[in-house]
Amino acid sequence: AHLDRVAAVDGAVGAFLHVDEEAVLAQARAIDERRAAGEELGPLAGVPIAHKDVFTTTDMPTTAGSKILQGWRPPYDSTVTARLREAGLVILGKTNMDEFAMGSSTENSAYQTTRNPWDLERIPGGSSGGSSAAVAAYQAPLATGTDTGGSIRQPAAVTGIVGAKPTYGGSSRYGVIAFASSLDTPGPFARTVLDAALLHEAFSGHDRMDATSIDEPVPPVVEAARRADVTGLTVGVVKEFAGDGYQPGVLARFDETVELLESLGAKVVEVSCPNFTYALPAYYLIAPSECSSNLARFDAMRYGLRVGDDGTRSAEEVMALTRAEGFGPEVKRRIMLGTYALSSGYYDAYYGKAQQVRTLIQRDFDAAFGQVDVLISPTTPTTAFAIGERADDPMAMYLADLCTIPANLAGNAAISVPCGLSGDGLPVGLQIMAPVLGDDRVYRVGAAVER
Ligand code: GLN
Repeated sequence: AHLDRVAAVDGAVGAFLHVDEEAVLAQARAIDERRAAGEELGPLAGVPIAHKDVFTTTDMPTTAGSKILQGWRPPYDSTVTARLREAGLVILGKTNMDEFAMGSSTENSAYQTTRNPWDLERIPGGSSGGSSAAVAAYQAPLATGTDTGGSIRQPAAVTGIVGAKPTYGGSSRYGVIAFASSLDTPGPFARTVLDAALLHEAFSGHDRMDATSIDEPVPPVVEAARRADVTGLTVGVVKEFAGDGYQPGVLARFDETVELLESLGAKVVEVSCPNFTYALPAYYLIAPSECSSNLARFDAMRYGLRVGDDGTRSAEEVMALTRAEGFGPEVKRRIMLGTYALSSGYYDAYYGKAQQVRTLIQRDFDAAFGQVDVLISPTTPTTAFAIGERADDPMAMYLADLCTIPANLAGNAAISVPCGLSGDGLPVGLQIMAPVLGDDRVYRVGAAVER
């Protein structure tokens, strides 16, 4: 049924970069055989899933939305995809994304434009916009994404679905093509909070292949999503995330959610997190710095594309030609920003300062969680913008992640759940944030208020 749905709508939506019908059916048959052989499979066995094309998969291409990885077949599976195969999920295909996960609209993909199923002239969010569109268009019930600055929560918000960023280190980065390693976090997309929790639980937990993986039990997210009550909880509204720049319909749905939380028995208080205002500029120093280092590995020798290797050129010339042709403009912009911020003489003023701001943001979270159980805000200042509207204005594009970036800088758990439609008829997301390893709280509150 999902393959039929993909065939019917993906020409218009453009969520998938790769779907192989034969391979999907073969996986499904293999799961039937495992069942028939008496194997005990988990609750998601047989459920189809779409993976963001940033997770390595041995039986399918993996491009990270970049031309530089065109034609590359990874020799190993990411931990997330391997665990989900083991749990019996069927991989439907790989989804479109902003090149190397840099963007908020999926317009930075080297391959195609993905459209928002609510309005095909609008963006599906990014960078995991192929995954959000696939779930919102009922092409897949579940999908994976990665969230470095908001790339799961923001696309979930603008397509009216659920997307969670687990605690940093709660889900493995092994086999996830790196953007900014201290921020990158794999997480789930689904149409309900409980579905997202089931997926979260299926791929999370300690992985010795990832040096920053946390060796602690997975927070009880499924139990929390089933519980879905907020009685006795104190909810903090982040004071800094409102006002100018926020669409009135977004603020109206947010205010209604506050009333809903109170009517369900939560105590709602206003909390100030003064350093959250500096999260966006700090992120745009830290993320490009890490990316400039991570993307050095695309050197024309190890993976994918190689340009100009005709026996007349030096290795350096081939590298330069390959990188010039293989990387898109946003990736080049980030590499230049990051190289500059890390260079000797500027390191302390830019990268060093941004790391200090990161600590201040962590302290804001610590102080807030001394008073409240969760923090809430709109997920994004506006609903889905039009395709092309912000494509030539990086600053306007970066603002889409204003509210989501603090949780990445501090490593906290966070979720976006749908909370109604704005006056323009487009979905609005509510963001819920909890302390590190407090993932169960965001699912508990999210399940109580999703609508
Ligand atoms: N939009 C942000 C960026 O472009 C976040 C991306 C992400 O979370 N991968 O960096």
